[in-house]
Amino acid sequence: MKFYNTLTKKVEEFIPRKEGEVIFYTCGPTVYHDQHIGNMRNYINHDVLDKTLRLLGYKVTRIMNITDVGHLTDDSDYGDDKMVKTAQKENKSVMDLATYYTERFFIDFDLVNNKVPEIVSPATSHIDTYIKMITTLIEKGYAYLAGGNVYFDTSKLTDYYQLTNHKENELLIGAREGVEKDSNKKNQADFVLWFTKSKFDKQELKWESPWGTGYPGWHIECSGICINHGGEYIDIHGGGVDNIFPHHTNEIAQSEAYVGHKWCNYWFHNEHLLDETGKMSKSKGATLTVSLLKEKGYHPLAFRYMCLNSHYRSQLVFSFTSLNSAEQAYKKLKNKISLIKNEGDLDEASFNFYIGKFINSLEDDLNVANAITVIYDLLKNDMVNGFTKLELINDFDKVLSLDLLKKAELSKNHDNIMALIKSRDKAKNNKDFELADSIRNDLLEKGILLIDTKEGTIYKEVGK
Ligand code: AMP
Ligand code: ZN
Repeated sequence: MKFYNTLTKKVEEFIPRKEGEVIFYTCGPTVYHDQHIGNMRNYINHDVLDKTLRLLGYKVTRIMNITDVGHLTDDSDYGDDKMVKTAQKENKSVMDLATYYTERFFIDFDLVNNKVPEIVSPATSHIDTYIKMITTLIEKGYAYLAGGNVYFDTSKLTDYYQLTNHKENELLIGAREGVEKDSNKKNQADFVLWFTKSKFDKQELKWESPWGTGYPGWHIECSGICINHGGEYIDIHGGGVDNIFPHHTNEIAQSEAYVGHKWCNYWFHNEHLLDETGKMSKSKGATLTVSLLKEKGYHPLAFRYMCLNSHYRSQLVFSFTSLNSAEQAYKKLKNKISLIKNEGDLDEASFNFYIGKFINSLEDDLNVANAITVIYDLLKNDMVNGFTKLELINDFDKVLSLDLLKKAELSKNHDNIMALIKSRDKAKNNKDFELADSIRNDLLEKGILLIDTKEGTIYKEVGK
């Protein structure tokens, strides 16, 4: 298996530390708001990597955090706590806000068939770990106390910027834009490990610590949760490209200073989903979520299908036009699969050939779009019997999770609609256009739009 390692800036062969076992950590949501479809693209790509590793036979332990404290409006430790700011606006307690948005997050996570990681852990349940780590970092000389906060001293490291391609000054300008300088810092790249009330006294959740009552910085949370559950070494750490700096850069700094050796060998980063105006973000008003797509009549797995057809290292521009095309293609694919007759015995040669092609595509820097074309090739091949095809599709779907073999999923009335489509086809063949039109119009009144294509008639649920 090869994928792009941000640390070495190369597509590399993946070799886990322990043979056959993978510890895979991914940054989870900050639960002050709904996760938009851009965030969901990120989780879908992590899910595909996770499932690919499992298909290859690895025992994967996946860990994901839920950020419910300490993530400030600027990733470089400036501004207000995102959770507190929203809780005040929505007149809720921070914990109620976290519970509310965590539940909503997992509904959308499930709608696109993501597998819930083995370990999901909220940041607020690891306060003792952060305190222990920060204490050690101070003892080892990597951290200092200033103005009531504890900072990580980046000048103690020779390779602080190892994860990023950018020059130090460019990064600092990016991080500082629009915010005042923190005069407590010895070096502008230093970052906060622990805030006390002296930094931001509106914080609702605070804990006793050797440095005063306060709360952890966002970066130490991921390191702490990861080390607590994954131990001193992890194999893969994932996130979006925006996490490379400062978040993951800081995670490496503090984790390696704490454990005293290299911590994570492979860094896997996803490119963003953009809207037509640029990067999709929570601050741009109405949040486009998977649930909202569903309310608008789209099948959530059509969104997954759309994401799977673009490479994780390429930006993807979302539009309803492209979602419509993805949905049509997805429905056609499911239609074709539903026509396969379960006949014959397993044809091992064909099975091995196609599963090999599918795996080769995934092993090639997770080329899921190519892996999907293997299904189309298989469907076209009349020499392969139905049973073998269904067995293969069953295995493909362990990674793709598109419910390719689930019947009557696209609509509760799928079978009825398909029967009516057949009656309409028959009516058209008999030149009974009145009956054909009345079937089409009756369905439309029920919110089912029929679309005639070269491959036959498909339908779409509309107006919901
Ligand atoms: P947040 O809730 O802001 O901490 O973001 C959760 C995850 O979504 C992070 O790992 C981000 O890197 C990722 N992310 C944020 N915006 C996008 C986007 N437009 N497209 C893809 N991933 C994103
Ligand atoms: Zn993180």
